[in-house]
Amino acid sequence: MQLLKDRILKDGVVKKGNVLKVDSFLNHKMDIELFEEIGKEFKRRFADCNINKILTIEASGIGIACIVAQYFDNAPVVFAKKTQSINIDGEVYSTKIQSFTHNKIYDVIVSKKFLNKDDRVLIIDDFLANGCALEGLVELVKSSGATIEGIGIVIEKGFQRGGDIIREKGLRLESLAIVDSMDDEKGIVYFR
Ligand code: 5GP
Repeated sequence: MQLLKDRILKDGVVKKGNVLKVDSFLNHKMDIELFEEIGKEFKRRFADCNINKILTIEASGIGIACIVAQYFDNAPVVFAKKTQSINIDGEVYSTKIQSFTHNKIYDVIVSKKFLNKDDRVLIIDDFLANGCALEGLVELVKSSGATIEGIGIVIEKGFQRGGDIIREKGLRLESLAIVDSMDDEKGIVYFR
């Protein structure tokens, strides 16, 4: 998606440790006009899918997913919650996720009330790096018996292994910008 790539080149900041900061338009200050274009693009790419629910993970995925949902007949958005204490009464689906940005493992849950076997889910997230967050979301959907129609990622870091892991599972993954490499000294991002 050229508009997104141009914006990353203009406002993205390459940090040490292969981190791309996009907090001035994507995951801290949010550019809603850009989000609307992202929503239209996901709709175009998943036009043949019969999606009735959007799943994301807190916090950065929520804003994006809410705008994207408007292009999928206002499908409800469910976000996986990060939690310290797992509810063991069986009312939630849960899994563990290793955080790339915070370098720790946490539990994520979705209430069984909000995801079930009849759902046809589009998973949305801001970044795909090593794939841990996404693998966790995939597992939550699988526990519910729902169908994963597709996965929409705004920025995939193609030099990390997440994209391969997800595609090898046979899942339909669409990333709007795939970063091939980054140079933190020159501050340059190279796209696939
Ligand atoms: P993964 O689980 O695929 O390794 O990482 C996914 C999560 O880590 C994303 O939801 C995002 O919040 C965060 N993340 C990974 N890489 C980056 C990055 O380069 N920049 C930012 N801002 N977040 C990242």
